[in-house]
This record gives sequence, C-alpha cells and structure tokens, in this order.
Amino acid sequence: MSDEKDWSQQQLQIFKAIADNSGAVIGAKSLDGEYLYVNQQYGRLFQRPVSDFIGRKDSELFPAETAAQFRRADLLAQQSQNPISVEEVVPVDGIDRDFLSIKFPIYSTEGKLFATGLVAADISKIKDLQRQLQSMADHDVLTECYNRRKILEIAELYLKKARRYQQDLAVLVFDLDHFKQVNDTFGHAVGDCILSGFVDRVNAELRKPDELGRLGGEEFIAVLPDTSAVSALALAERIREKIALWYPEQLAGQQVTSSIGIAGFSLSLQSLDELVAAADHALYQAKANGRNCVRLY
Ligand code: GH3
Ligand code: MG
Ligand code: MG
Repeated sequence: MSDEKDWSQQQLQIFKAIADNSGAVIGAKSLDGEYLYVNQQYGRLFQRPVSDFIGRKDSELFPAETAAQFRRADLLAQQSQNPISVEEVVPVDGIDRDFLSIKFPIYSTEGKLFATGLVAADISKIKDLQRQLQSMADHDVLTECYNRRKILEIAELYLKKARRYQQDLAVLVFDLDHFKQVNDTFGHAVGDCILSGFVDRVNAELRKPDELGRLGGEEFIAVLPDTSAVSALALAERIREKIALWYPEQLAGQQVTSSIGIAGFSLSLQSLDELVAAADHALYQAKANGRNCVRLY
C-alpha cells in the first residue's frame, strides 16, 4: 500500500516536472470553468502566482472577450471525444499574442467527464512571419499597392457581391502617359519614384472600400464597389486633374499625366474579364484622344 502511494507520489512529481519544464502553457478547468490546475508557465505568462488561478474562472481573470473565447473552446472540448486544436488571441502585457491551444476532455478513472485540459504554445512569431509573407505575396514591392493577382482576386469578390445584391461596381484602369520618355530622360530610379507618388496620390482620393492594384508596368486598376459609372467618372476626372497638377520636382518642371478608362458592372458586362476589357477599351480611346483624359466605356 505504501509502495503504491510512493509510486503515485513519484508519478505526480514526474508529471509536474514535465508540465513545468515543457515550455508550454498548461492548465485544467472544471466543467463550469474553474481552474483546477495551471503550470508555472501559465502563471509566469500572466504574471500571477499559480494559486491565483485555482478555483477562479477566466471571466474573473481576463477581459470579457478573451474569457468568452476561452469558454467557447472549452465547451467544444467537453463535447468532443478527441483533442481539439484552436488558435486563440490572448492579450499579454497589453499586446495581443497568438496561441495554438490543444484542448481536450479529462475523464475520471470511472470514465466520467470532469474537466478539460489545455496545452498551449505561443505562436506569435510564426503568425507574424506568416502575415509578413502573406503581405509580401499580395503587394507590389515598389508602390506597396496590391499586385495584379491580389487586386483581381478582390475585384472578383466585389463583382460577386454586386451581382448577388444588384449593386453598382465600377473599375478604373490607369496608364501613365509617355512613361517610357520619363525613364529615358530622367532614369529608371526617377521613374520608380513617380510610380510610387502616383499611387499615393490616387490612394488619397479613394474611399475606404475602394482598392487599388498594379496590373503591371505603369498600369493600375481601382475597384470601386457601390459606385455608379457617373460617380466613377467624377472621381476619375478628379484624379486625372490631381496628377496633371502634380509637377514632381525630379522632372524639372515637367508634368506627369495619366489616361483613365472606366467601365461599370452592367447586364452586358457580367464577368471580370469583360469588365476589365471594357475599361481597357475606354483607356485605349483616352490614349487615342490625345492622353491626359478620361473615357467611359
Ligand atoms: P503611352 O502614353 O502610350 O502609355 O506611352 P508609354 O511610354 O507610357 O507606354 P509604353 O507601354 O511604351 O511604356 C511603358 C513604360 O513604363 C516602359 C517601361 O520602361 C516603364 N515601366 C514599366 N514598369 C516600370 C517600373 O517598374 N519602373 C519604371 N521606372 N518604369 C517602368
Ligand atoms: Mg502601359
Ligand atoms: Mg503608358
């Protein structure tokens, strides 16, 4: 009997040592959410002694939103036979950090569910890197607006929404005028600056839901949800004028101008390809008309 007790005691010490040295955040809660156990790392993370947690609920320890998020996952784990894996955002020292938490039901020796356990790891660094990579995959390095793939993906989403809810949608396609000449005269680096400055100026005129992307070279596209062709025309004209009045200092008194083609979602322009082709056609007309002007398809 005493041997068995020693053995249990030893097992407990082993588990405690594993829990406290694993580097993971580990805990267990009763079915109604009171902490039954947390490891040292748990206390360290939230800068409280371990004993502070025992018998208390997340709602007493964390902001309401965080506590509700924890509770939802705990309830899910109670209903599940197997461990579940959830990503949770947790404020630590006022800064949101990302955790990957494994949550699981805990049964008594008689097979009765009495608690949920959790093992969590801080994955903030990986998540930050993931966000950084995602951002790099979606943006144009030079101008920092969306790249071609991403802006067309966004446009496709906006188009779906316009179709479903019978809403307006307009696209503007921009092409800088005689841009080759700018490069040839002032150099490629100056050309790059002009492209960045152009994007900044267009962005300043767009509303919040509008999105801008680089189609390639000195061609850009703006996607304007909930915008009629008439409003898009007014916006395009404002942008055209703003660019024409810019006179970048690197161009020694020379102007940059842009041509803009517009197309609006309609019965005859249903797909993104059709919409962009129509705006391109209008752009071509603006070029043919002498550039530095706006044309509506
Ligand atoms: P148009 O008025 O007919 O549009 O004449 P354009 O000279 O602008 O047209 P074209 O398509 O012949 O030339 C586009 C130029 O844009 C050629 C290229 O050197 C320049 N360009 C494209 N991408 C970049 C870039 O990333 N940086 C710089 N500096 N120039 C670029
Ligand atoms: Mg071009
Ligand atoms: Mg051009």
